[in-house]
Amino acid sequence: MFKKILVANRGEIALRIIRACGELGIETVAIHSEADRDSLHVRFADESVCVGKAESSESYLNKSRIISSALITSAEAIHPGYGFLAEDVTFARACQDSGICFIGPLPDTLESMGNKIEARKKMQEAEVPVIPGSTGPLIDAEEAVNLAGTIGYPVLLKAAAGGGGKGIRFVDNDLSLENNFILAQAEAEVAFGNSELYLEKYIDKPKHVEIQVLGDSFGSVVQLGERDCSIQRKHQKLVEESPCPTLNEDVRRVMGETAILACRTVEYQSAGTVEFLLDENQDFYFIEMNTRIQVEHPVTEMRTGVDLLKEQILIAAGKPLKITQSEIAPRGHAIECRINAEDPFNGFLPCPGRVTGFHIPGGPGLRVDTHLHEDCYISPYYDSLLAKIISFGNDRNEAVSRMKRALSELVIEGVTHTAPFHLELLKDRDFLSGNFNTAFLENKRFFK
Ligand code: ADP
Ligand code: ADP
Ligand code: MG
Repeated sequence: MFKKILVANRGEIALRIIRACGELGIETVAIHSEADRDSLHVRFADESVCVGKAESSESYLNKSRIISSALITSAEAIHPGYGFLAEDVTFARACQDSGICFIGPLPDTLESMGNKIEARKKMQEAEVPVIPGSTGPLIDAEEAVNLAGTIGYPVLLKAAAGGGGKGIRFVDNDLSLENNFILAQAEAEVAFGNSELYLEKYIDKPKHVEIQVLGDSFGSVVQLGERDCSIQRKHQKLVEESPCPTLNEDVRRVMGETAILACRTVEYQSAGTVEFLLDENQDFYFIEMNTRIQVEHPVTEMRTGVDLLKEQILIAAGKPLKITQSEIAPRGHAIECRINAEDPFNGFLPCPGRVTGFHIPGGPGLRVDTHLHEDCYISPYYDSLLAKIISFGNDRNEAVSRMKRALSELVIEGVTHTAPFHLELLKDRDFLSGNFNTAFLENKRFFK
């Protein structure tokens, strides 16, 4: 087993990793930027190393300093969390070359699933349903227009290396596709260091339903049920829940089996998520695989009792999965609301600043993952996530009422945040009846 792990992240997920390590008796090394000196992840880790200036490129993305920090502190493994270096195959290989374990899938798996075109191809070969679209990277706008003619408008122009909801453009005619092509290529090169683009048919009013998986290095794979992440803004998730309120029982079973097939196809060895879109006829299609722990993983932990972080670490340490598929029996209902330092009534404008006071809700059926502390400063340099509130109930109604109670108990002073948005959402009749899809927020006036 590992004696010491370096946590290459910040915020709530760094804390989450440190907590899992603590329970496993593993020491931790935090890395931090100059802006994060006083952060909780630095305080709660056994050791810490400052790796650079506030800008992510100088600190949390500074691969050589992070690897040196692991070597200096004798950490045997690096946990990348989500975002930053979590899906960076160069980093995973550099860890391997330095004799450090990268906590995630094998670099080859990371590489093939990190390129969304490659992933589509692999899945298609394995007969996992994918959305009609490209079979390889688009060479130029002309090829894009021809392909769009075959699959039919509207289409989405997507970056092969895109993520976090970025690098996706809606296109509904030839001219717009021609105009967007070069722009999208340039944008993808800057944002992801890869200009490859592909086309996918636009699925109208789908639900985003994803399956949590765990695979070990002995070939065992299990799935831990679905999460419905359809409440999105600009392709970014704001609320996640499990089970999906409208998923038919037979489709749920097939989707779970399909996620396992997807994992077996790429010999998946870690915690991961297979993302699907579910259309109005309950047909579903693979969109991508996230080869890391996800923001919304607590939703699944609440329903299954499985600690996904601990499992992920044990798998990386070469241990076989102890749980079998038949032992996984998700129960009840869980919902997560992401509380961001953004103004929901002003276009979700980021609102960095100093938190002058706060109160974290508690009581039955509640979990709050947050890195907030007294007098903490929410920096404009990083993600605006302040806290994740996760409620659990015996059924959806109970989970919703607990979430409402939690949101009304929550106090965060000094910065504007999105809790009032969530309270509005939880009163919405369509949301309450399960009548929603990824277009939900666009169609609601008060959320604009
Ligand atoms: P999840 O997929 O876990 O639900 P998000 O899509 O919200 O979570 O992404 C988690 C974090 O990782 C966010 O901070 C997001 O901006 C970042 N992220 C994810 N993928 C990428 C990527 N390819 N490039 C840059 N940032 C990314
Ligand atoms: P990312 O890597 O940024 O997470 P995804 O490919 O997972 O990108 O897509 C993010 C979101 O964009 C989906 O959850 C969905 O709401 C929307 N989306 C992606 N592909 C399609 C599609 N073909 N049709 C309709 N919506 C889509
Ligand atoms: Mg996605």
